[in-house]
Amino acid sequence: MNDTIDAIVDRLQQSLPDALQWLLPIARRTLEYGFGPFNNGGGRFPWYGILAALGIAAVAFVWGTRDKHDRTLAGFLRFCFPKEIYLDKNVWVDLKIGFMNPFIQPAVNITWRITTVLIASRITELLTLLLGPNTSPAAWTPTSVMICAVAFSLMSDFGYFLFHWLAHVFPPLWAIHKLHHSAEALTPLTAARVHPLERAVMGPFMAFTTALLAGPIIYFYGGTTSPEAIFGLSMPGSLFFLAGHILHHSHVWVYFGPVIGRVIVSPVQHQIHHSSLPQHCDRNFAEHWAIWDTMFGTLYLPQGRETLKMGLTGYTKQPHTGLITALALPVWDSFKACLALATRLARHYRLLQPPGAVRR
Ligand SMILES: [Zn+2]
Ligand SMILES: [Zn+2]
Repeated sequence: MNDTIDAIVDRLQQSLPDALQWLLPIARRTLEYGFGPFNNGGGRFPWYGILAALGIAAVAFVWGTRDKHDRTLAGFLRFCFPKEIYLDKNVWVDLKIGFMNPFIQPAVNITWRITTVLIASRITELLTLLLGPNTSPAAWTPTSVMICAVAFSLMSDFGYFLFHWLAHVFPPLWAIHKLHHSAEALTPLTAARVHPLERAVMGPFMAFTTALLAGPIIYFYGGTTSPEAIFGLSMPGSLFFLAGHILHHSHVWVYFGPVIGRVIVSPVQHQIHHSSLPQHCDRNFAEHWAIWDTMFGTLYLPQGRETLKMGLTGYTKQPHTGLITALALPVWDSFKACLALATRLARHYRLLQPPGAVRR
């Protein structure tokens, strides 16, 4: 698909006058956005993930529609794409943020150098120093690939879990993450409603937790790999898409039950994470593996068919009404939160006197 996009952009480049050549990056991004499900593995929306989401939604539709006569294609489309959700103003904001992020993220990602490879290679060096060079590296087998794939996925999700928990309890980070939670209607596009600075903070967490596993693996397998190993390690991500990951940001109620729900995240468990009702606040931080929420006591499983209220608490009006407020307000709020924190710390360590104390 990249070749097709290149060809269209080349055509445009030749046909556009010099004064309009600045439109090319926007045209490329529009094509990448449009062809997204079929391009570079599909990113957040691979085509097979969309098909799986539609299939699971179809089951939920049939299950929830008692009258057989109501089980029509039109009814299904209305069930999947209700007007009150898809015409909500915040859907446009989600769309704009998703469109702009690839332009902004590389420019603001100040932590891109902190990668799994960087940390894992240090761990491998340390193991070589402690245990000596590995002269007889292990060979990959289907079983070891499967175990490592699940372990990698777990560790990657643990890094996300830690970041996500911190983003809810540390005010300067919450100011940034809040943008994702200000969505008052969940659609799959809400997955892209993430401030560009969020990835800069999240990256090192995931790099560190996966490196804790990658370092020893590189040492014990002597840095060797195989196509099977590479394919195998990326399998869990694809399987989560087949399990309805795209429905995590949607109104479609899909719950895998209390046993599976304690291990992997059902779509409704992430929808609950977005609910601002007091009983749902600061629950279900994991993206894929609910095991982390189960272990750390932050799991919330639905008690029957619950009512959810999406959006932020403490706001009478939507703070992120457009692209500018969505990008600028979190930075300003984060700055204010940092200042408030610095002031509290300075007061605590008596670096600052309370107001009026100096004059007395
Ligand atoms: Zn959150
Ligand atoms: Zn979300």
